[in-house]
Amino acid sequence: MKKEQNFECPDPTTDVKVNTANRKVAINDYAYGPADPRKENKEFWQEKADIWGTDIDDVYNMRCGNCRVFDVTPWIQDCIGPVASQDDDYFAVAGVEIGYCRIHEFKCASTRTCDTWVAGGPMNSEIETEDIEEARERGDL
Ligand code: SF4
Repeated sequence: MKKEQNFECPDPTTDVKVNTANRKVAINDYAYGPADPRKENKEFWQEKADIWGTDIDDVYNMRCGNCRVFDVTPWIQDCIGPVASQDDDYFAVAGVEIGYCRIHEFKCASTRTCDTWVAGGPMNSEIETEDIEEARERGDL
């Protein structure tokens, strides 16, 4: 694993206002959710199943936590900081991993998902941040 040269923390990881604005876009335009993943949220998951042309059992496993653009590299975790300082109460729930969405550019929770989930994640020791950025610039994501 390597950290790209000249790495700087993305603004949303350190600026709550920017993060909140980007998260609103993810919610409104890409149906990021559900609001409380601890609940069944059958309607939410059925909508995702319809979008992806699969059944609800499959989409339960298609979450930020295993999305290819869910960045949980050590350097992003350093940017994000302690879970207790997050701007979303849900982040404090045990077992929820916080990462950085490289597509929608906000801090997201491993137990949620959105309409643009990408297979093959998370981005950690095996997928480098720069690979994602390059794919994004090419329009592959
Ligand atoms: S693109 Fe992936 S990491 Fe970003 S919000 Fe959607 S499911 Fe989560």
